[in-house]
Amino acid sequence: MAPSNTVQDSVQKASLSDPEKFWDKHAKELYWHKPYSAVLRRQTKKLKDGTTHPHWSWFPDGEISTTYNCIDRHVKAGNGDKVALIWDSPVSKSKEKYTYSQMLEEVELLAGVLREEGVKKGDVVLVYMPMIPAAIFGMLAAARLGAIHAVVFGGFAANSLAQRIEAAKPKVILTASCAIEGAKGPLDYRPFVEGAIEQSSFKPSKTIIWQRENKRWDPVNKSEGQRNWQRLIKSARMRGLRAEAVPVKSTDGLYIIYTSGTTGLPKGVLREAGGHAVGLNLNIKYLFDVKGPGDVIFTGSDIGWVVGHSYIVYAPLLAGATTVLYEGKPIGTPDAGAFWRMVDEHKVTSLFTAPTALRAIRKEDPEDKFFKQYGEKGQLRHWRGLFLAGERSEPSIVTHYQDLLKQYAAPDARVIDHWWSSESGSPMTGLALRPAIGLDHNSQETHTALAIKPGSAGKPMPGFDVRIVDDDGNEVEQGKMGNIVLAMPLAPTGFTTLFNDEARFYKGYLKRFNGKWLDTGDAGMLDQDGYLHVMSRSDDIINVAAHRFSTGAIEQAITSHSSVAEACVVGVPDAMKGHLPFAFVIPSASTPDGLPATPSKEFFTGINNIVRTQIGSIASLGGIIQGKGMIPKTRSGKTLRRVLRELVENAAENNFDKEVNVPATVEDKEVVEVARQKVREWFEERKKQQGTEKAKL
Ligand code: AMP
Repeated sequence: MAPSNTVQDSVQKASLSDPEKFWDKHAKELYWHKPYSAVLRRQTKKLKDGTTHPHWSWFPDGEISTTYNCIDRHVKAGNGDKVALIWDSPVSKSKEKYTYSQMLEEVELLAGVLREEGVKKGDVVLVYMPMIPAAIFGMLAAARLGAIHAVVFGGFAANSLAQRIEAAKPKVILTASCAIEGAKGPLDYRPFVEGAIEQSSFKPSKTIIWQRENKRWDPVNKSEGQRNWQRLIKSARMRGLRAEAVPVKSTDGLYIIYTSGTTGLPKGVLREAGGHAVGLNLNIKYLFDVKGPGDVIFTGSDIGWVVGHSYIVYAPLLAGATTVLYEGKPIGTPDAGAFWRMVDEHKVTSLFTAPTALRAIRKEDPEDKFFKQYGEKGQLRHWRGLFLAGERSEPSIVTHYQDLLKQYAAPDARVIDHWWSSESGSPMTGLALRPAIGLDHNSQETHTALAIKPGSAGKPMPGFDVRIVDDDGNEVEQGKMGNIVLAMPLAPTGFTTLFNDEARFYKGYLKRFNGKWLDTGDAGMLDQDGYLHVMSRSDDIINVAAHRFSTGAIEQAITSHSSVAEACVVGVPDAMKGHLPFAFVIPSASTPDGLPATPSKEFFTGINNIVRTQIGSIASLGGIIQGKGMIPKTRSGKTLRRVLRELVENAAENNFDKEVNVPATVEDKEVVEVARQKVREWFEERKKQQGTEKAKL
């Protein structure tokens, strides 16, 4: 179907056959405080136990400042009056705009403040913030000093925040007095932050608080290292305090992002400064067609996720374009037209969101009234691309929005599903929106783009060598399902290690295939045309509304309930959120036998509240089945989550008796039948309850 001689195919080939030449050309678009002498260095690393594995470094002896490249470079080039950031916050009824010059001023001041508060090159600054401009200034100010930021999603509860404080050991925490969540009103951050610091054995020396009028942090306890952000800035402004950009080595960390691991503990993915800047500067232009002033990208994600780091903050600014920061939801703030209003009002050219947001919008507005309301007045004609990632996009969502774009957006506007992760830092597959010939982004001449295939996440992106292998690491034929792995080195935005944990990097990503491939944890296939189809994640991680959760971490939360002996969490399909965590719970030994599969409301709420407090409300459970002797294990004691997941998936389709794939290593096959019974009982009970609810209406 798709010929393999398109510009995307030849770009891909060039990036893999001569990576040094390819990336050197793109690295030269940035400012290096100290130019590199080598583009790529390949090495072998040795762990304490003697195991060796491949390691690589991009631009190893170069020195760079990401903040300088994101802001100062554009101001120096005469683009200081171009808009860098638009903040649109329906929840606080505010809108603000910052030009590159204004942003420079804010970031220089804040960096000066942080330096006075003791932050130095290499220190960690933790950012726990709502979606306000100060959060972005905080990230850029930390990077300006050569410090490493660790942004923690502002929806995480104290426990999850404490784990990340413990692991990152931040010198300073940047936070705010509250977040604002639509109709729910302000969410007080103080108990989360103070609670987390109390729980953590590591104590940051300072907590700097952005005061929001909706709910102030009062009083600010100076003796505990708490400081009022705005006051510090005011004083710095009066004194003319400024901090110049401090370059770091290309391989030094720019940030740590915590992601779910297969054990309960989050993994700190370390992003290296040089490769990140070079890779993002290329793919924002190549894939997203955001090339500079006049191009506006609105990424409906959160700065706490990698998508937010890359496409709300760094990539648009590296390109010198405008980024839109949105504090609101796809629906309810105030309605399901919010995204389309933003496209119209801020002249958005590229919109990036997760399919879960589109599902929510469609549920509220099945006839696309809002979309058409803007579209029919011709107010969406500047819009060129709708980018989807974070989870699988079902073909129907792609075709539906492709049809709408065709009618109302720019003539060649497309819906582009692309696949990536915290580890990759940028898309590993996708379709270049309007690839410029020879990747000369200043050229107006563009090349025919590859056709989209709904259900596929496109073809590999520069520098990512994507392969499909069987469980022994052998490549499978095109069109066959298998494990999605990457050949090394990864593209420059990709991670090369975990923060302070090389052994876990090896164990989590390389050990499975003896260091030959890097395991992405995803499964899928490359079809005959070389398009990737991502089908599922390995069992220990589930994807809820494009957020990655470790089943282990949720199980740990559940088992902290006093009447729970054991728990097994699986992801079950959900029409809105893609997946929901669903728990099999074994009550403690003292509980009588013969309990019904559906627990009491109190028991469910008790456990669900623990999950909400320890993990966060987005991990709320879709259901609990209680019972004994229903969690199948292998002989070596590994929980067979997949078996339980299959049972639930089959039941959701009314297929209670369908054969499930039980491995030969199962310890007791009978346990699977007990689980099957329990699942049936639970679903039948739910059906009954839904029937009664309907009858009541
Ligand atoms: P995170 O590191 O939190 O960004 O999650 C990355 C994971 O999200 C990937 O490993 C996939 O499992 C999933 N993911 C991201 N983008 C896609 C996509 N376009 N299609 C299917 N799954 C995706």
